[in-house]
Amino acid sequence: MKAKERMAIERQTCAELSPEIRIDNYDEVALGFTVDLAQKEAQRCLNCKKPGCRQGCPINNDIPAFIGLVAEGKFAEAYWKVRETSSLPAICSRVCPHESQCEGSCIRGKKGKPVAIGPIERFMSDWMVYHQKNMSAECALPIGKKVAIVGSGPAGMTVAYHLAHAGIACTIYESLPVVGGMLKVGIPPFRLPRHILNAEFSVLKNCGVKIVHNVVIGRDITLDQLKNEHGYDAVFIGVGAHASRKLGVEGEDMAGVRHGIDYLREVLSGHKVDIGHNVVVVGGGNVAIDCARVALREGSENVSILYRRTIEEMPASTEEIHHLQQEGVKIEFLAAPVRVVGENGRMTGIECQRMELGPPDDSGRCRPVVIDGSNFVIDADCIIPAISQNVDHETDTGHDFELTRWGTYIIDKTTFQTNIDWIFSAGDSVLGPQTVAKAVYQAKEAAESIKRYCLGEDMQEGRDVRDLDN
Ligand SMILES: Cc1cc2nc3c(=O)[nH]c(=O)nc-3n(C[C@H](O)[C@H](O)[C@H](O)COP(=O)(O)OP(=O)(O)OC[C@H]3O[C@@H](n4cnc5c(N)ncnc54)[C@H](O)[C@@H]3O)c2cc1C
Repeated sequence: MKAKERMAIERQTCAELSPEIRIDNYDEVALGFTVDLAQKEAQRCLNCKKPGCRQGCPINNDIPAFIGLVAEGKFAEAYWKVRETSSLPAICSRVCPHESQCEGSCIRGKKGKPVAIGPIERFMSDWMVYHQKNMSAECALPIGKKVAIVGSGPAGMTVAYHLAHAGIACTIYESLPVVGGMLKVGIPPFRLPRHILNAEFSVLKNCGVKIVHNVVIGRDITLDQLKNEHGYDAVFIGVGAHASRKLGVEGEDMAGVRHGIDYLREVLSGHKVDIGHNVVVVGGGNVAIDCARVALREGSENVSILYRRTIEEMPASTEEIHHLQQEGVKIEFLAAPVRVVGENGRMTGIECQRMELGPPDDSGRCRPVVIDGSNFVIDADCIIPAISQNVDHETDTGHDFELTRWGTYIIDKTTFQTNIDWIFSAGDSVLGPQTVAKAVYQAKEAAESIKRYCLGEDMQEGRDVRDLDN
C-alpha cells in the first residue's frame, strides 16, 4: 500500500462499555479491536525509517515490525516480535501512557492522529490468550546458580523470567498473599482484567520460578540471611513504592482519612470497605483516578477529586480522565487541602484553598499559587489522599543503602547494582512511582547484569542501557 493510501485511513476506535452498564461492576471498559479493526489500523503505520514510536517506548519495542505483522494477519509472529523486548505485552498495551510514550512520538501523528499502537499490541496479545496459544518460551538447563527476588511486581517477575530462561534458579519472596504487586492490588480490573494479568504472569512463572508468599524480607528473613544461610548468589530488590505520602495538613490522622494505596489494596483484595457516600479524593494521577472510580463501584454516590492545577497538568491519561468524568466524578480544579475538619477524632470535611497557576516549576508544569482569603469547606464522609508514594525500607535491615533524596535506591545506571555489589534493584524502588513499562525495561537489564555477576563476567561490556530516570 502506498503512503498516500495509508495516510487516507482514519484512526480506528475501540468500542467501550457505556457508563450505565459499567458503573456497578469491574468489567473492562475498553473492549479492544476486532480482527478487521486491528488490521485496518495497522495499515496506517508508515513503517518509518527512523521510527519515533520505538524511541518513545521505554522498552524499545520494535513497533513497526509487529504492526507490519498484524497488517499481514500474522498475529502469533507479531506477539513473539514484541516478546523479544517486552515480558508483559498484554499488560503494557492496556496500562501504558501511550499518548506520552510510543503514540506521542509516532510520526504519523504529526499529520492527524497517531497510529493506535496500544490497542494493536493489545489485540495480538489477547489473540494469543483467547486462542490458547503457547506463550511460554523454551527454558534453559540449570547452571547451578540461584537468585532471590524480593517482590512479585512487574520488576521482580521480569527479572525472574529472564534469569530462569538463562538457567538460573529463582525464588521470589512476596509479602502479600497474591502475585503481581501494583498490577494486582493497585490497578483495578476495569482497566486490567485479572484473567489477562494471570495469563501473562503464568507465562513468566512457567520456567520453574518459585514464589514464597507472606514473607516480608527485612522482617521475617534478612538480606544477609538470604545470602549466608539460604545460599543465594545475588538478591534483586523489586519492592516498588508502597508507602503513601501524607498530605501534611492538620487533622490528617482523624478517622475517615484513608490513603489511596491502602484503600485500593483492601478493596482489590476482596474486602468490603464502607467509606460512606460523600468521598473526596486528593490528587491528579492514576492512583487518584482509580480510587475515585473504585469508590463509585463500591457504592459511594458522590465522589469528587480535588486537584491543585488544571486538567492540562493532570498526570493521568486523557482516556482515564474522560472515563472518570463519564462516570460522574466531579473534578474540583485549582483547589488544595489545608486542613481536615471534624470532631471527636472523626473527620466531617476538608478545608481547601483556591489556587491559580503561576510560573512553571522544576517539572515544567505551572506552579499552583494560593489565592488569599479563598478558603472553603467540602463536607465529606471520607478523604482519600492519593498524592504519590515513597519506597518502604523495611527490606534494608542490617544494611545502609545509598538513597536519593526521595528515598529511592541509588544504583549503577548500567548494572543496577546498589552500593552492595550482590544486591540489585530496579522499577519503582529506583525510579519512584512510575510505570509498568519502565519497570519491565529496567528489570530486563538488571537480569542481564545479575546473570553476568553470577557467571563472573564483565557487567559493563557492550551495554547500552537507557536512562529512564526522568
Ligand atoms: C493505583 C495505581 C494505578 C497505576 N496505574 C498505572 C498505569 O495506568 N500505567 C502504568 O504504567 N503504571 C501504573 N501504575 C504504576 C505501576 O503499577 C508501577 O510502576 C509498577 O507496578 C512498578 O513495578 P515494581 O515491580 O517496581 O513494583 P510493585 O508493582 O509495587 O511490586 C512490588 C512488590 O514487592 C512487594 N514487597 C514490598 N516490600 C516487600 C518486602 N519487604 N518483602 C517481600 N515483598 C515485598 C510488594 O508487596 C509488591 O508485590 C499504577 C500504580 C498504582 C498504585
